[in-house]
Amino acid sequence: MFSARSKFILAVLLFVSFSARPSWAQLHSNMDADSSAIKQCVAAWEDAWNRHDAHAWAMPLAEDGDFTNVTGLYLHGRKDFEARFTELGPRKRAEFERHLADCPDCSAYLRSYEETIKLGKAAFADPDAPVPQDVPKELVQAIFASRRQEA
Ligand SMILES: [Zn+2]
Repeated sequence: MFSARSKFILAVLLFVSFSARPSWAQLHSNMDADSSAIKQCVAAWEDAWNRHDAHAWAMPLAEDGDFTNVTGLYLHGRKDFEARFTELGPRKRAEFERHLADCPDCSAYLRSYEETIKLGKAAFADPDAPVPQDVPKELVQAIFASRRQEA
């Protein structure tokens, strides 16, 4: 179940890491569509989770994607992922919520996930915002090199 989350977090972090030096507008002149797609994906995934829609929640996972969570749960493929989420009916979900209330580790993990989503959303709030000073110069150069290769 966390595989899609992990991929999602990785995608957000990679995208955030692409927010290097000059300005978002300069760096991402042709990445607006990507940014929009990622935002839509985050919003749709969040919405699917809140609606308890297992199918919609599983769709972002690669059809043959592998998933392992911090407890060692292993799932292979979107169908397994969806089936596992479907098992989380109201009773299991209540169990899960109770566990979160009593487990600082899982609670911290979930909070970090929620923070990642917030940071991802905030990173794209202003496309003309200056790139933070603490972004390594090597990262900016690598991004420019990557963009040149794509062009
Ligand atoms: Zn726990």
